[in-house]
Amino acid sequence: MSFKYFEDLWNLWYTELHNGTAGLSLKIKKVLYSGESKFQRIEVFDTYEYGKMLVLYGSIMFTERDEFVYHEMIAHVPLFVHPSPETVLVIGGGDGGTVREVLRHPEVKKVKMVEIDEQVVEISKKYFPQMSSGFSDKRLTFIFKDGAEFVKTDPGKYDVLIVDSADPVGPADVLFREEFFINTKKRLKENGIFIAQTESPFYHSDIVKNTYSILKGLYKNVFMYWAWIPAYPSAIWSFSFCSDSLHPLEDFKEERYRELSLETKYYNKGIHFGAFSLPNFAHKLIK
Ligand code: SAM
Repeated sequence: MSFKYFEDLWNLWYTELHNGTAGLSLKIKKVLYSGESKFQRIEVFDTYEYGKMLVLYGSIMFTERDEFVYHEMIAHVPLFVHPSPETVLVIGGGDGGTVREVLRHPEVKKVKMVEIDEQVVEISKKYFPQMSSGFSDKRLTFIFKDGAEFVKTDPGKYDVLIVDSADPVGPADVLFREEFFINTKKRLKENGIFIAQTESPFYHSDIVKNTYSILKGLYKNVFMYWAWIPAYPSAIWSFSFCSDSLHPLEDFKEERYRELSLETKYYNKGIHFGAFSLPNFAHKLIK
């Protein structure tokens, strides 16, 4: 007698724990890469349900199946609010998904991407060509450096600054500290917009509370917006929108949005407005 379960030769699973007692398990089709860079452990798995995915420091960074949600939401929300987003600084984001979306806006003239780990960029080029398609764009400059160190000394000023960081462990821990937020504000032009991914309001309430209390001390307008990302903890992910002068809804650039008519898979005008409507528990966290 044989059981179907044991006949499967490739019976390998990956589990990401979202807290100590719950998580997401995915059956692995193939391990495509497993190694360590100077900064973190890096894995590329091919999964049955979500396609290929990048795992850093043990956590899912993105999967082929749902990466569009995160990258469209982190890029298009600020770029359709800023009146003239010519210069953009991206901190982290070595997989290329964020710069791919940013570079779809013709107003953007220069993008700097400050990524600590060059190996993430190389792995993305090799395994995720659809993510790294913006890497050959002449408007993009790579800087391989710790983002927290970069913003301390960089003399540049930017219209939009996006923090596309990993979770606050290992090298990304510094990207959630007050000193980093203070220094990023110094890098913004007068009309600037600061955006950061701010984890799951459901599972990571302490990180969310702490981050928004720092940001509220720095900016006049601080808003949380959210997106549905199935492979991330709780499937609800938050982003912060911060600016001293721009409002994410009142300053939405309707005309530019219509003229550009971007073909997107998640983002649209309704989502832009709806994303800022928060469930009560999330409101409470950032009050
Ligand atoms: N979408 C992802 C998520 O929220 O799970 C994050 C994407 S992206 C892969 C995060 C990137 O931040 C990684 O490539 C990592 O190497 C980079 N990173 C981590 N710490 C950094 C630091 N201190 N300075 C610059 N980049 C950093």
